[in-house]
Amino acid sequence: MNARPDARAFEGTVARRERLSDHLVRIVLTGLDGFASTGTPDEWVALTVPGQFQTRYYTVRSWADGELVLDVVVHDVGLVTEWAMRDCVGDTVTITEPKASFAPPADAAWLLLVGDLTAMPAMARILETHPHTPSYVMAEVPDDLTSYLPAHADVTWLEPPAPGQSALAQVVEGIEWPEGDGYFWMAGESAQMRAIRKHLMREVGLPTSHYDVMGYWRATIGRQPRAVDPGPIWRAGKAAGKSDGQIWAEYDAAREASDD
Ligand SMILES: Cc1cc2nc3c(=O)[nH]c(=O)nc-3n(C[C@H](O)[C@H](O)[C@H](O)COP(=O)(O)OP(=O)(O)OC[C@H]3O[C@@H](n4cnc5c(N)ncnc54)[C@H](O)[C@@H]3O)c2cc1C
Repeated sequence: MNARPDARAFEGTVARRERLSDHLVRIVLTGLDGFASTGTPDEWVALTVPGQFQTRYYTVRSWADGELVLDVVVHDVGLVTEWAMRDCVGDTVTITEPKASFAPPADAAWLLLVGDLTAMPAMARILETHPHTPSYVMAEVPDDLTSYLPAHADVTWLEPPAPGQSALAQVVEGIEWPEGDGYFWMAGESAQMRAIRKHLMREVGLPTSHYDVMGYWRATIGRQPRAVDPGPIWRAGKAAGKSDGQIWAEYDAAREASDD
């Protein structure tokens, strides 16, 4: 995805790099003059690494004391993956101003969070910001990350069916939903997320105000830009007063049309 020409950008320096697990690398950025968090726990930025013009999206794991933390999944090949795998301390990178999507109703009695490794930073931050809400997590991750999530959550650890693959759609289709009205948040491989949105609309009948399901990455062969940039669809949808669910459904439809 190319950097949006209208997005505000902030330059930062990699102050530290830490390997959290086999597939997760923590990058700590400093600098970033003028950066401000939205305060919403699934907020994300578009990251541009040295020598590249394409961006990739990353969740703000934390922003405190002038340090911005990104936890980057490293997989087989990838533009940011390859950069994060090497010693990048001292590199200058660019991030855009953050956007966010998590918006539970004020009276949500529970949170149900489902995701793969790319969703872990957002799920950890959501749990940190909701320490008193009963929270259930289904995490499909290849590494032992038991201490990554706050202890108050009831976590089910799932193994990916194969490296780089996900079976989350099937998992969600078998969920026993908690009693009462809560909020369902989910992120992971895009085709799985499209299937889940259809399931929620058709089988579960969940109102769009009670869930947020986002495609975070797309299983393709090799490094590829996205066929459809969500930025313009997101901005047009917000300007028209549409809900996140409606906007992501429009994004799915555009993606499906581009696959034809
Ligand atoms: C709102 C949002 C927030 C996100 N937050 C995070 C985050 O906090 N941490 C994070 O690591 N990612 C996050 N992602 C996902 C990340 O942007 C993608 O995984 C991205 O494609 C990785 O870029 P890359 O340059 O490493 O690989 P690319 O060059 O984009 O892709 C190279 C190849 O790798 C495959 N691939 C891409 N991602 C994965 C993956 N996760 N697992 C297996 N194969 C993959 C592709 O299908 C392709 O074949 C987020 C995405 C969104 C939309």
